[in-house]
Order: sequence, then C-alpha cells, then structure tokens
Amino acid sequence: MSTMATSAQAARRELSGFAGELIGPSDGNYDEARALFNAMIDKRPAVIARCARPEDVSLVIEFASTHDLPLAIRGGGHNGAGLGSVDDGIVADLSPLRAISVDPESRTVRVGGGATWGEVDAATNPHGLAVPCGIISTTGVGGLTLGGGIGHLTRGCGLTIDNLLGADVVLADGERVRASAEENPELFWALRGGGGNCGAVTEFTFSAHPVSDIVGGPTFWPIEQTDEVLAAYREFLPTLERNASGFFCWHRVPPAEMFPEEFHLRLVCGIVWCIVGSDEEAERAMAPMLSVGDPLIHGVGRMPLPALNSAFDGVYSPGDQWYWRADFVEEIPDEAIARNADWNERMPTWKCGSHVYPIDGAAHDVGGDETPWAYRDTRWAQVIVGVDPDPEKASELRDWTVGYWDDLHEFSAGGAYVNMMMDEGQERVQASYRGNYGRLARAKSTFDPENLFSVNQNIKPAA
Ligand SMILES: Cc1cc2nc3c(=O)[nH]c(=O)nc-3n(C[C@H](O)[C@H](O)[C@H](O)COP(=O)(O)OP(=O)(O)OC[C@H]3O[C@@H](n4cnc5c(N)ncnc54)[C@H](O)[C@@H]3O)c2cc1C
Repeated sequence: MSTMATSAQAARRELSGFAGELIGPSDGNYDEARALFNAMIDKRPAVIARCARPEDVSLVIEFASTHDLPLAIRGGGHNGAGLGSVDDGIVADLSPLRAISVDPESRTVRVGGGATWGEVDAATNPHGLAVPCGIISTTGVGGLTLGGGIGHLTRGCGLTIDNLLGADVVLADGERVRASAEENPELFWALRGGGGNCGAVTEFTFSAHPVSDIVGGPTFWPIEQTDEVLAAYREFLPTLERNASGFFCWHRVPPAEMFPEEFHLRLVCGIVWCIVGSDEEAERAMAPMLSVGDPLIHGVGRMPLPALNSAFDGVYSPGDQWYWRADFVEEIPDEAIARNADWNERMPTWKCGSHVYPIDGAAHDVGGDETPWAYRDTRWAQVIVGVDPDPEKASELRDWTVGYWDDLHEFSAGGAYVNMMMDEGQERVQASYRGNYGRLARAKSTFDPENLFSVNQNIKPAA
C-alpha cells in the first residue's frame, strides 16, 4: 500500500475527535479539494483535513507532528507558489472557519482564519466600515494578512497587519493561544508579516475604518506613452493626500463590457484609482495626471469599496496558470521606465502585466522593526505577473516574468513582498525580511523549533 494511502487511513483512524471532513486520494472530491488558485501548481496531499473548529486544527497539527508528516496550512488557497498545500503530507484546510462578526461600536471585526476578503467586505460594508485588504476579493484573509497586506487603502489606513489587533493561534505543539499587544507579544510581532511560520491562525481580530463608498477605477493611456505618464506619476503620487491612492499598471485592456470594444486587448499603461472623499475631492486629486499625455479611457466613478475590491476578479479567476515575481523599489529612474515599457510591449498573453503599488502614507507611520515587514521605508512594491488559462503557455509565462524581473532587479531595493513571490529560496526570503530575519528566526525557535510550519516563505529556527 502506498504511503499516501497509509497516511489517509491513519488519519481516519487516529483523528477520531475530528469534527471536520477528511479527504484522501480515493475520495470523489479529492481533485476539487486539492485544487489551488494557481493551476500551474499541482500538489497531491495524502490527506486534506477540512477543519470545522479550532480544536480540529490542533488535532491535525498534533497528528502531523506525531507522524512526521509534511504539513501545510491552507487559508484561501491563493498563494502563487502554492504554499497552501503539500505533496504527500497533510493539509489543514481552514476554509470552513469563515465566520465573521462586526462590532460597529468598537469598529472591530473578527474573521475566521479561512475566510476570503470578499466575505469580509460583504460583512463590513453595510456598517460603513472596511478592513484594508487586497485588490482581488477571492484572496484568503489568512495568507494575505500574515504576509502583510497591500491594497487600495494602504496609503490611508496602512497595511492589513497594521490593522490587526489580535489573533487566535494554534502553535506547533497543538496548544491554542491568543496573540496581541498584551498577550504573547512576541508571537503577535512575528504574525504581522512573518507568514504562517509561527502558527495557524483560526481567528483574526481587525480594527476597521469608516470607509464605504469610494471614487475608483482605471485611467488607461496607450503603452507608447509610458515614458511620459510614469515619469509624471512617480513625482505626482507622493504628493497626494492619504485619502487618495492609485497604483500604476501595464495591461491589455480586458475584453469586458465596461470598456469600449475598440480598445479591447490594446496594450496600455494606467493608474487604478481609489479615492475616499467627495466627487470634487477626487476630481481635484486626479486632475494633474489627467492632463498628462492622451488618456484613452477614464473609467472612474463612485462605487462601494467592495465593487473596486472585486473589479479584477473576472480577469483573475481561479484555475489559470500563474507565475509572478516581485521587488520593492525605492526610485524609478528613466532607464527603469524604458525597460518596463519594453517588457510589457512583449507580454506573451493578454492577462499578463505588472503593477507598481505605492508603499507610503500610513504604511510609513510604523517603524521598520515594529513588525517583520522590513521595507517600510521603501516607496513602491512592484509585481510582474504572467497569467493564462492554457497550460501549454506555462513556460512562456515563466520565461517572460523571470526575464522581465532579471532585467529590472538592479533598480530594486533588494527584497520583495513575500506574498508576491514564488518559491525562490532562502536568500530571497532573507533579503525580504532584511534586518528583521534574525528576530523572526528567534521567534521561530520559540514557537516552532522543529519547523513543522515549513510550507511557507520559510524562516529557519535560530540555532
Ligand atoms: C489573484 C491574486 C491577487 C492578489 N492580490 C493581492 C493584493 O492585492 N494584496 C496583497 O497583499 N496580496 C495579494 N495577493 C497575494 C496574496 O496575499 C497571497 O497569495 C496570499 O498567500 C494568499 O493567501 P491565502 O490564504 O489565499 O493563501 P494560501 O495559499 O491558503 O496560503 C498562503 C500561505 O499562508 C499560510 N496561511 C494561510 N492562512 C493561514 C492561517 N489562517 N494561519 C496560518 N497560516 C496561514 C499558508 O500556510 C501558506 O504558507 C494576491 C494573490 C493572487 C493570486
């Protein structure tokens, strides 16, 4: 009998108090249960344990530890590198833990460790509240939060981790603890950017902001105008008030109804805006950029924040081939602008592109060592992404992304946002945590000395 089958049988036998669902390779729903957002990653776990309660997470962790079985913790399953799953091991799938409760009085939100951001938005928006999150609503709260959390509200409200008040955590020995500024503060420090290295979070507590409607959407220019538009943008964006943001991007115009058909699939550069304020404030904020070059499309309007947070969902749906690379960027010199334009003019498929997210405003209010998120002093986080539904295109997507990243890396600040990396090795992980790596490694040796939580951007326990 194969090791996979043995592990699945042992799990069914020994996890008797487990209240969730155990799924092994012989089960009919195995392929659906093991599927990840990124179809380029095809992992075959021995067991997928869908945890119904925090106690189940403890049981699975103890089981993995006892049997020396590789363990992955799955939140939303969105990780580009597929770090929510593991070959031949056990997956603690937290997706059933998706309860959300909002306390409008204290503006706090409790969120299950397997929820998605669309669900958080749906729960908070009716109260006129928002927790800063990412730009795609199907992304998991778990992975995005533990890696940092960049999105439309970063300039005004900080990273997602800057809004984390506490977490219920299952440690490597199965113990369930609370982490906050008052309880287990070192664990709380490590959770705010250190990924799932120190434990599995069954519930997050966030503070929310009074944000309901925003003015948002894209302005696109012909890609040939990148030099002029990005040179203007790099000076303009830092002058904006914090209530306004706009990330820079290169794309092909999606063939979607909201865009005029004549522009479908046209190569463009652009800004995706999000302004919290009146229509007049938004117009004033955007005006300096709208007089640069000749915008092709200005698809900006008032909408509920959740509409903007899900505006790209249709383009980036689960099941595509996905390969990305990232870097933090301090300055964008003219030579970098030219190379970015050149690579994007050669994007191999229409879903490819690159984003440059502003990392300033409220994200700069937190010191570089107050959380593990070490690039607080940088200005931009760039990500390059190769995407297409066709598996035949996988190597082309990878080659373009890596070639582009290699060519631009000399202009970077060194490391990258860990949530937008593939499995790129220890050197990249260390570069991304910079001076905070040592403290993270010490936290790791306290909370997970055997490195049971190793399917992540891994921190090795300090000797
Ligand atoms: C289409 C798309 C858009 C994205 N947009 C943004 C964006 O706008 N901003 C941004 O910041 N990021 C963004 N990301 C990156 C995203 O933050 C990461 O991919 C993140 O890892 C996804 O979290 P998840 O829970 O869905 O992933 P999973 O694959 O489930 O997990 C990823 C990692 O987190 C760990 N993990 C997950 N949940 C828990 C938990 N509850 N406790 C402990 N460990 C856990 C896993 O073990 C794994 O190591 C995007 C990703 C995609 C694919």
